[in-house]
Amino acid sequence: MGYLQKLEISECPRHIFLRYSDEANTLLIAKKLILTGMVQGVGFRPFVYSLAVSLNLLGYVKNNPEGIEIFIEGTSQNINSFIKKLKTDLPSLAKIEQIKIQKQKIQEYKEFSILNSEENGQKSVLLPPDIAICDNCKKELLDQKNRRYMYPLINCTNCGPRYTIIKALPYDRKNTSMSIFKMCSDCQDEYTDYTNRRFHAEPISCPNCGPSLNIMEQNKNIIKTDEPIKLVAQMIKEGKIGAIKGLGGFHLVCDASNKKTINKLRIRKNRPKKPFAVMFKTLENIKSQCKLNKKEVDLLEGKNAPIVLLKKQKNFSLAQNLSFESAFLGAFLPYTPLQIVLFKHLNIPIVATSANISDEPIITEKEELFSKLDGIIDFVLDFDREIVNGCDDSVVRTFGQKEIFIRIARGYAPKNSRIKIKFRENVLALGAGQKSTISLGFGNSIITSAHIGDLFSIESVEKYKNTTQNLCKLYDFKPSLIICDKNGNYESSKYAKELGSPLLELQHHKAHFLAGLFENNMLESEALGIIFDGTGIGDDGTVWGGEFLLYNKKEIIRVNHIKEFWMLGGEISALEPRRSALSFLFDIHGEKALELKNSTTESFTTQELQILYKMYTNTANSIKTSSVGRLFDAVASFCGLTQKSAYEGESGLLMESLYDKTIKNRYDIKIDNTLDMSAIFHSNDSQKESVSKFLNTLSFAIGEIASAYNLPVILSGGVFQNAVLCNLVSKELKSRAIKAYFHKNLSPNDSNISVGQAVYANLVQNCDFI
Ligand SMILES: [Zn+2]
Ligand SMILES: [Zn+2]
Repeated sequence: MGYLQKLEISECPRHIFLRYSDEANTLLIAKKLILTGMVQGVGFRPFVYSLAVSLNLLGYVKNNPEGIEIFIEGTSQNINSFIKKLKTDLPSLAKIEQIKIQKQKIQEYKEFSILNSEENGQKSVLLPPDIAICDNCKKELLDQKNRRYMYPLINCTNCGPRYTIIKALPYDRKNTSMSIFKMCSDCQDEYTDYTNRRFHAEPISCPNCGPSLNIMEQNKNIIKTDEPIKLVAQMIKEGKIGAIKGLGGFHLVCDASNKKTINKLRIRKNRPKKPFAVMFKTLENIKSQCKLNKKEVDLLEGKNAPIVLLKKQKNFSLAQNLSFESAFLGAFLPYTPLQIVLFKHLNIPIVATSANISDEPIITEKEELFSKLDGIIDFVLDFDREIVNGCDDSVVRTFGQKEIFIRIARGYAPKNSRIKIKFRENVLALGAGQKSTISLGFGNSIITSAHIGDLFSIESVEKYKNTTQNLCKLYDFKPSLIICDKNGNYESSKYAKELGSPLLELQHHKAHFLAGLFENNMLESEALGIIFDGTGIGDDGTVWGGEFLLYNKKEIIRVNHIKEFWMLGGEISALEPRRSALSFLFDIHGEKALELKNSTTESFTTQELQILYKMYTNTANSIKTSSVGRLFDAVASFCGLTQKSAYEGESGLLMESLYDKTIKNRYDIKIDNTLDMSAIFHSNDSQKESVSKFLNTLSFAIGEIASAYNLPVILSGGVFQNAVLCNLVSKELKSRAIKAYFHKNLSPNDSNISVGQAVYANLVQNCDFI
C-alpha cells in the first residue's frame, strides 16, 4: 500500500493523472489536518477544495465543531505545498489559529470532496462576525443587468450577516434564521457550485426567494409601494424620523443637515446633548466635514466598517446639534446593501443611531420598536430576516496609528482569545454593570460576547440574560464556575447568585488590570497597572477609580491611588460633576467655600450649598472616592464646562475638545502614599489653560509614580478612551524609558471586565493566585 502503482486499477481520472504524472513512483502519504480559528463562514472549504485539486490531492474537507477537518493523500511534496499554501493563500476573512497535523493510513480516496458538517464534539470554532458588503456584491448591486440589481439583501461568502443570524454551530444555513427561506434554483446552483463566489454563502438569497421589505407608518399600517427604499429617502428629506433594520438591529435615522429635525429627535428621545453618529454617502463627504488620517480611512473603508470618532473640520457645516461643543463626530459609511440603495436616492448624510432607550441593548424586533419608541418614529423599514443575536455598531477612534475601541460589536465580536494555560473548569464571567459583556472560558479559549449595554432596566437585564444563554447554547457550554464583580448591586452580580455556586468575585479594577495583562501577553511578568476609571467598589468599601496596582504573579496589591475626595450625596454625584468639584472646594476652603464665586458654586442655590456643606461635615449620604472619572468631572465643573452631565463621559470629551498642545506647563502635585491633584482648584486659569494643564499634570504624575517601580506599565479603565491622555501618557513614559501597554483588541472600558474575570478564574485554579 502507499505506492501509486497500487492505485492503477482505479477508474478515477485523477488517479490516472497521478499515475502518469512525473511523480510516479513517489511514495504516497496521508495526513489529517484540524484547523481552528476563523475558518467557517469565510469561504474556507471551497478554498481548500481548489487548493487540494490543484495539487492532485485526494480526500475531503468538512466543518467540525472545532473548525475544519481536512484529510489529504498524495505525494509528500504536494502535501507540504498544500500546508504551506494553506497558511499563505487563505481567503481574506479567514484566520488560522492552530493547525494540528496527524499522519494517517492511505484510504485510497477516489476524489477530493466537500463533506457534510460534523456536529458532535466540543464546540470551539470562532463565530464569524458580520461583514460589510464586499466590492463584488456592490458592483452587482448597481449593475442593471444583474439579477440582484438593487436587491437590498445581496451577500456572498465574503460579506453579509453571520453572527447576527446564527442559532447553532456549525455555521450552516439550517442553523441560521435564513433556514425558512427556500432557495430558488438559481440560488441553489450558486450555493452548490464550488467555483462560485456564493458556494455555501449561507444567507444567499435573491429577489425571487429571499426576505421581503415592508414599510410601515407610525400606526403600524403598511404603506403599499414598489419602491420602499425610495420612499424612505423621500421621507428623510421631508424631515421625518424613522427606524431602518440593519444587520444587528434597527437604526434611528433622520437628515443630519437639518437642525430642526435633529432637535425633534433629541426631544422625542429625551437625549438632550449626547452626540449622534452620522452615516455619510461617500468617504469624500466625510472628508469635507472631518479630518482624516490614513488609519481612519482604512477603518472606515475596511470590512468591519465601524463608526470612527473623528475630529470635526473648522468649517464643519452639518447641524451644530449633532455633537454641540464636542470637537468630535462619529462617522461611518454604508455597510449593508440596503444602506447603499438608500443613498442612491439621497445626497445628504443621515443620523444613524442605535434604536434603543439610552445605552440599553439595541432593538431587534419591530414589535419592540413600536412599544418602546412609540411617538419617536414616523416610519419603520423592516424585512423578515430574523435577527437572532442583536449587535450594535462598533465604535473606534485612533491615537497615533493605534486603535482605541469604545464599543466592540459588529464586525469585531464575538471574540475568541487564546490563553496559555488550559481552564480546569468551564468558567462563565459575567462582567460589570455598564457596557456589559460576558466571557466563556474553556480549554484554551476565552470567548467574549459583543457589547450588550447598560443593565439599568428590567428589559436590558432580560436581554443580557438571553445573550448569556444564547452564547452558552451556541457552544454547548455548561458553566461549572461563575465569576462576577465584587459589587453585589450590579445586576450581573445578582444574576451570578441566581445561577448558583461555585462563585468567585473579583474587584473591578483588578479585573481591568488582568484584562490588560492578558491582552498584552504579560501574565508572566511583574507589572504596574494604572487603572483610571469611573467607579467601582474597592476592597476597603470606598469607591475606587484612580488606582496604581502591582502585579507580582501571586496577587495584585494597591500601591498608590488618587487622594480621596467625597462623592457628595453618593451615586448622584456621578451625574453632577459640580458635586465632585465642591468636595475639593470644601477641602481647601472649609465653610468659606460657601461664599466663593465660581462656576461650581454659582450653579447651586445658597440653600443647596448649605445642605451639601452639612453633608460634607457629617459625611452623611456621601462616600469617599479615588475615581479619576469623578476627578475629570470636578475639573470640568470648576472651569465651567459642565455642571450636570448630559451623558456619560461628557467631561472627558469636552476637555479633550479644549486641550491646547501649545500649553506645556502644569500644576504642582503631592505624592506620598496617595496622589494629591488638588492644586488645580486653587488656580485662576482660563478654561483652556486649566484643562490643558490638568491633563499635563495627570500624565506627569503617572510618570513620577511609574518611575518609582521600574516595571512595565499596563493602562486600563474607561478614562483611557481619552486619546489626548493616551498620547500624553505614552510620551511621558517613553521619555522615562518605561514600557507602556495599552489595550489593543479590547476596549479599555468596562466591556473588558468579563475578560479580566475569566483570566482571574484561570489563574486562581492554575497558579494559586489570590
Ligand atoms: Zn459579497
Ligand atoms: Zn434566489
